Amino acid sequence: MNRLLIDYGASRCRYLIEKEEGEFSGEFATADKDLEHFIRTQLKCFEAIEAVHIAYAGQIVGGKILSAPNIMTNHTGLKSSIEEIFRIPVKIENDLKCAALAEYHTRGESISLFCAYIGTGFGGALVEEGRLMRGNSNMAGEVGHLPYKKSPFLCGCGKDDCVELYCSGKALAKWVEYYGLECVPTLAGIEASPNEEASLILQNFYGALSHAVATIVTLFNPTYLILGGSVVTGNPKIEHIVRKNVNNMAFPLAANDVTIEITRLSNGCLEGTKWL
Ligand SMILES: [Zn+2]
Repeated sequence: MNRLLIDYGASRCRYLIEKEEGEFSGEFATADKDLEHFIRTQLKCFEAIEAVHIAYAGQIVGGKILSAPNIMTNHTGLKSSIEEIFRIPVKIENDLKCAALAEYHTRGESISLFCAYIGTGFGGALVEEGRLMRGNSNMAGEVGHLPYKKSPFLCGCGKDDCVELYCSGKALAKWVEYYGLECVPTLAGIEASPNEEASLILQNFYGALSHAVATIVTLFNPTYLILGGSVVTGNPKIEHIVRKNVNNMAFPLAANDVTIEITRLSNGCLEGTKWL
């Protein structure tokens, strides 16, 4: 089937066009192009495309984008608009739910798997025996919005105590600015800073991450806990730190059982759109 697959994140949009004669892919900065305009252009260029599948960094209910705390643009009517004009199906799902499906299918076992990705934000999703856990309104797994501790910032969801305010790419940048540090706002950049506040940012980052992961392991008792996202890849020691803290913090029987791994996929969100 000829499909246009899209991973629409808070910072980057990556896409893949699947055609009988082969695939081709590309990416651009989310802020540089309007998503609907991009899709319309692709559909006009490649008339053979029969479906559009989108992994979207936001809360999706019944194919509708309800909110997207890290994306400023309003894409509420995207699905109906494209379907009406081009007469092809458009499927939109939360990006982490797509990633969880991709992680599940790479293992191909009858397992329970929680997928937690840290990029601009911090998202999560659970797959149990091949089925996504959705909750009442498809919000199950929103690990980044677990309460952690009060911060001087407001989360995109409206609260001021979310895990994501300490443990996300956006949070690292906010804290570096808050303390007036002159370092690159990445884990490596902050680690290289001799400043006392830099150590505090790192301590809070790992504290919030460990709190979140220990909560997930205790509540859901997953077979696998997969960590991914741009903040995680390139920092392999995260796996060791999380493992140690989960052993100390989570319900012991569940902690002993869980396999914690860093993703083997280069883009789980995009990969997962194939399974929608
Ligand atoms: Zn929040």
